[in-house]
Amino acid sequence: MPHTLDPELRRALAERVRYCHEMGIYDFYRREGATPAETLSPIFRPELREEMSPRKSAAVSTITDNNLAAIAANPEQGVADPSAALKMIREDLGDCTRCKLHQGRKQIVFGVGNPRAELMFVGEGPGADEDAQGEPFVGRAGQLLNNMIKAMGLRREDVYIANIVKCRPPGNRQPERDECETCSPFLMRQIAAIKPKAMVALGATAAKNLLAINAPMSELRGRWYDFKPAGSNPSWPGTRLAVTYHPVFLLRDPRQKGEAWKDLQMVMKYLGIEPPKKAAE
Ligand code: URA
Repeated sequence: MPHTLDPELRRALAERVRYCHEMGIYDFYRREGATPAETLSPIFRPELREEMSPRKSAAVSTITDNNLAAIAANPEQGVADPSAALKMIREDLGDCTRCKLHQGRKQIVFGVGNPRAELMFVGEGPGADEDAQGEPFVGRAGQLLNNMIKAMGLRREDVYIANIVKCRPPGNRQPERDECETCSPFLMRQIAAIKPKAMVALGATAAKNLLAINAPMSELRGRWYDFKPAGSNPSWPGTRLAVTYHPVFLLRDPRQKGEAWKDLQMVMKYLGIEPPKKAAE
């Protein structure tokens, strides 16, 4: 049965469809069983702005309320090319001022890597080097992450790397809850666009935010979690998520590298990756 939408919500959805049309997207998937309230992320509510012009309303007249809601939450969902989908998400993020982290940042650190990656790493948030260069994990922790990736028999360009928050928290403090919650829908959309086979949460902040579990690392590591971002395509079964130590922690306590290697080996086994001879010794 068609849903009756609140006029304000309808305006926001129409705006979203207009945006898709501007991006050249006219075909949309319909999410079965989703109600508008479930599919519309709160992040879009502040964007309730413009009235539909008669031309725009004609353009959307054949789209149902259900479709509108699905498109509003994840407009890139109908885009088959992950690279184009990521571009749309980046455009949507814009020059973001949705949380207070924008005040101290130099650049938004969106994410980097292969849009079709089978493996995705998620860290906590950019540090000074990442803020300066606009790319995640480029400082000392990044060097170590690169070595971890190499030890797995992969290259940095093979994987995708992102963070829970996209702007540097001042003084490298942990991102606060509201900051993580504000940024999270964009990360979820990136994951849904890339559809990795496996993900690795780097450190407790990433793990706790992705899994919404408050547990120590000793409990979080050593197992798989099923992970499927809300709003992702219903035909995608989701990914598997593993947790390991954050490279910054490993720089401070290198004795834990062996434990991290065990976590990565679990991931490699699942992905069918043979370690290069040297790393396996
Ligand atoms: N630490 C993180 O969590 N992310 C980065 O991008 C760099 C350091």
